Amino acid sequence: MLETVSKGFKAARNKLKGRTEITPEVVDDALRDIRVSLLEADVSFDVVKRFVARVREKAIGEVVETKVKTEKGLLKVTPQDHFIKICHDELEALMGPVDTSLRFADKGRPSGVMMVGLQGSGKTTTAGKLANKLLKDGKKPILVAADVYRPAAVDQLKVLGEKLGVPVFHEPGVSPPDMCRHAFEAAQRDKANVVIYDTAGRLAIDDELMVELEQIKAQVHPENILLVADAMIGQDAVKTAAEFDRRLAIDGFILTKLDGDARGGAALSIKEVTGKPIKFLGMGESLDRLEEFRPEGLASRILG
Ligand code: GDP
Repeated sequence: MLETVSKGFKAARNKLKGRTEITPEVVDDALRDIRVSLLEADVSFDVVKRFVARVREKAIGEVVETKVKTEKGLLKVTPQDHFIKICHDELEALMGPVDTSLRFADKGRPSGVMMVGLQGSGKTTTAGKLANKLLKDGKKPILVAADVYRPAAVDQLKVLGEKLGVPVFHEPGVSPPDMCRHAFEAAQRDKANVVIYDTAGRLAIDDELMVELEQIKAQVHPENILLVADAMIGQDAVKTAAEFDRRLAIDGFILTKLDGDARGGAALSIKEVTGKPIKFLGMGESLDRLEEFRPEGLASRILG
């Protein structure tokens, strides 16, 4: 995963190897490799530009060999180590800070998590994963099959609900906004404490979809609106995210398919472009493959 991005940092690291001091020219040469790999990984152009400028500013003048005191005695810190540490910190800053919290309503009222996103992004699967996580956290969730345009989505959610022992609410022929309101009322009656709404997606954003999502939001006032985005589609995921955010004021993202050959563009750009946090990562198809997002962890994976 994220091999494309890692490649550039590896090349940069090699250029700095064995040096006791590095000049601005060497820093620029190393940053060229990083810039190319970030663009190849589909990180947005502005984000790349800002990232490279920040690393450059910190790296130039600072990258000389030093010694630090550790428990094991004096440890040599090479310019290469300094440079990689700067990259690590800036990658972390780009994606952070950590915010994996979900908002919960006051007692007596079920909390809502509205899942939105394009078709195929992994919304239905992720709704199941989130229900699994909430169960483990001691909550009593219900799932709502409000993706009525993709008939398989309802059955898919029912299968996931059955596996987890989580009720799946669906009313054939009822409009999604009304269905979501009825689901909320049912959750209140049954003393469920989290309602996860699996809403419809489209292959591309259209106004009809957005209006429906706005209506659902107005009906159930969810505490959390999470956009599920496919990390494989890079910058397109970021553009989609920005549009959904503009219409719905989302709370954060779940990036899926990070286990695959994701180029990483979405993971690195989405926070900086939208200002909203990545909360979870989808790391596989099965129900337990949902990870809380740790910018520090992803930065370390990228730098190897
Ligand atoms: P929806 O149209 O947004 O509801 O998307 P689905 O939940 O049906 O997911 C589309 C496909 O992506 C399915 O084949 C899922 O198994 C797969 N998928 C979802 N999340 C992940 C993930 O994190 N990793 C991988 N490898 N596949 C995923």
